Amino acid sequence: MRRAFAPLAIAGMLGGAVAEDKADILTVTAPYPPTIDRSEATVLRYELQVANRSDAPVVLVALEVADAAGRRLGALSGAAMASAEARDDDDTASPVLPPRGTTTLHIDLALGAQPPPAMLVHALRFAAPGPGAVPRQRVSQVAVDRAEPVAIGPPLRGGPWIAVHDPSWARGHRRMVYTEGGRARIPGRYAIDFVGVDLAGAITSGDPDRPADAIGYGAEVIAVADGTVTRVRDDMTEGGSIAAGGIHKTGEAAGNHIVLKMAERRYAFYEHLKPGSIAVRVGQRVRRGDVIGALGFTGDSTGPHLHFHVADAPTPLGGEGLPFTIDRFVRCGRYADLGSLGREPWQRETPQVITRRRPGGNVVVVFEKLSGPALSACSAAVRGQPAARKTSG
Ligand SMILES: [Zn+2]
Repeated sequence: MRRAFAPLAIAGMLGGAVAEDKADILTVTAPYPPTIDRSEATVLRYELQVANRSDAPVVLVALEVADAAGRRLGALSGAAMASAEARDDDDTASPVLPPRGTTTLHIDLALGAQPPPAMLVHALRFAAPGPGAVPRQRVSQVAVDRAEPVAIGPPLRGGPWIAVHDPSWARGHRRMVYTEGGRARIPGRYAIDFVGVDLAGAITSGDPDRPADAIGYGAEVIAVADGTVTRVRDDMTEGGSIAAGGIHKTGEAAGNHIVLKMAERRYAFYEHLKPGSIAVRVGQRVRRGDVIGALGFTGDSTGPHLHFHVADAPTPLGGEGLPFTIDRFVRCGRYADLGSLGREPWQRETPQVITRRRPGGNVVVVFEKLSGPALSACSAAVRGQPAARKTSG
């Protein structure tokens, strides 16, 4: 299990005089601009691509981020630097770039109460491997996309649902880079996997290996906005065993899915839908709240859930993930440790109505039922009467 990723924390100033990278050893670019995530905190999420243009290896030592006025916003060094690189093999040692090598640093920059800056200035310090090497630094600027996240309705009704996501997971949505048409993108940068759960923390009401017994299975999936259906896949079948769910080809990982165009370069993705459940066809106009399908277990999935994300292009792997906020939901609690999912209860909290935020990582939410106030829906869930359950087997 990976150690938790500490978001960029304000650390001590990087001390000492450092030579600039006059020989252009490193190039530092952001393939996609930083975007604003309004979740429990306001965070700029983006990736820095670092290329070593020299014929010698370099060690990435530290990164400092400031705004254009020089106000310090955060810093990474040591293990946090390694963690931002998100290698599967080793996340403790400082990143080393081989000659002509490149790497990606996944940055989640917490802004606190300050407004998002227009520009980020990165000072990346690096050195030759070994003790006594003279550090150099490469300074580069990255413009921020200060557009507010798209505001949408919920993709499901009732609950409780766990909003599963964590930017630190090396193989999680936030860090999975896909190359299509020669360009690398992160479609799931802001993706959430919604998993149905009960009060005791169970995610199944029967046989844990039977998809149809999963608590969220078959729940109605609804349109998050008015829009036009631009893509549907509904030909994938589902096995009768979760353990034997298996790995699919890259093009089939999304399973049965719907892509809903909300606006130019704004598409909502619903993945792993139940076979035979898709109630819309390509070209169909839908209204927010319309039932369009049902939660299922098709494609690559460790259990029945709804994968949801927003991206700027209509294919599952061909777009860049965009931030979104859900107009209104009730936060009922959270799973502090997702490793106990299905075995231990989630931590309950005083129900809280949240507006215009993306549900926090592994937070337990209830979406307002169309017929009743959100708060009572959550209270009912907390009392032991989940507001909405599966609609069919
Ligand atoms: Zn997912």
